[in-house]
Amino acid sequence: MDAEVRRLFEAARAVQANAHAPYSNYHVGCALVTDSGTMYAGANIENAAYPQGLCAEATALAVMASAGERVVSVILTVCDSEFLATSCGGCRQKIREFATPDTVIHACGPQGLWATYSMDGLLPDSFGPEHL
Ligand code: ZN
Repeated sequence: MDAEVRRLFEAARAVQANAHAPYSNYHVGCALVTDSGTMYAGANIENAAYPQGLCAEATALAVMASAGERVVSVILTVCDSEFLATSCGGCRQKIREFATPDTVIHACGPQGLWATYSMDGLLPDSFGPEHL
């Protein structure tokens, strides 16, 4: 794990501790770096009305976009699953909104990096802003 991935991993682990996941008990942390080099992080936030819950990627992207940033360079998620867990389909599309062909997506477990993807690898032939 290189220094940047380590930094993102540690930030994602830290924010994961703040996940609000009383229903699934599935705590997820997400940290990302934008093209400006700024890091943002978010955790999943569940809701008693289940569909209103937010994935960690959604909260991290919301914080980033609310700060006025629009380009994700690297994004990393971490969960406590024993097996490889990647972003859900909805989050893949949410990431896609702010991704470039060079955006790197890391999926981590508690012990560290599981897998690394490109945007096209995670969501091939995707629909994006350039289609509108
Ligand atoms: Zn998701």
